[in-house]
Amino acid sequence: MFLVPAYPSGLTKRLRWLLAVFSLPLLSAQALPPRPALPPLRVKAVAPDVFVHTSYRRLPGSAAPVPANGLIVRTAKGALLIDTTWDPEQTQQLLQWIADSLHQRVQLAIITHAHEDRAGGLAVLQAQRIKVYSTPLTAQRFGMLFPRATPPTPALKPYTLIRAGRTRLELFFPGAAHAPDNVVAWLPRQKVLFGGCLVREQSAPTLGNLDDANLSLWPASLRTVTDRYPRAQVVVPGHGQWGGPTLLTHTAELLREANRRKPPTALREPQANR
Ligand SMILES: [Zn+2]
Repeated sequence: MFLVPAYPSGLTKRLRWLLAVFSLPLLSAQALPPRPALPPLRVKAVAPDVFVHTSYRRLPGSAAPVPANGLIVRTAKGALLIDTTWDPEQTQQLLQWIADSLHQRVQLAIITHAHEDRAGGLAVLQAQRIKVYSTPLTAQRFGMLFPRATPPTPALKPYTLIRAGRTRLELFFPGAAHAPDNVVAWLPRQKVLFGGCLVREQSAPTLGNLDDANLSLWPASLRTVTDRYPRAQVVVPGHGQWGGPTLLTHTAELLREANRRKPPTALREPQANR
């Protein structure tokens, strides 16, 4: 503080303040505070008896925790679950939320493709003897990607209609896109389309994880979904904010850009499995 005597007192105060401010980052770097906790599991209603569940994971290469969405559907016969959370602990919390808030048990869970953001909590469901269905291709890919885990029951056909009380849930495989096995879910009464990772949120600037994507087939698969569900009012993407059918056109535009920009062989980026 040798400068202090040479300056009027107002400036001295400011210097002290400046010094204090600039020394803060140094202090905090030395103290190495623990990493902030992940945001808690979030559940939000998007239509009568339909809720989006969102869990978070830190992934290498992304500054913010990456959210992943699934659905909970309340029916007269118990809850239906579309996709688990990123990890077992969050799925445990999800089951607790369903028990506490809906006073229901999960009667059936669906895995929409064999990636961790869809099936990270599968073992928790299996331990509680909850039925978990996927297509045979998803079960097979799950076995390859996670050889030590028990795959879901391969009970879904390319088109499967599930009835639970008055609720109808349609599961449909439109063709390869984000993954070779991705299915979408449609609730005709509530007009909710769960596009999963086949659909990108409105603010997404890219197509996301392309490790298992098929960029030449994705546009046609997306068109099949768009043509099949013209009544969709709520469209839920695999990651981020849900919205209306414009999410489908936004994803189509991202695909046009990606296919214009790069040859298909140059598009694989090594990323975490999601
Ligand atoms: Zn995925």
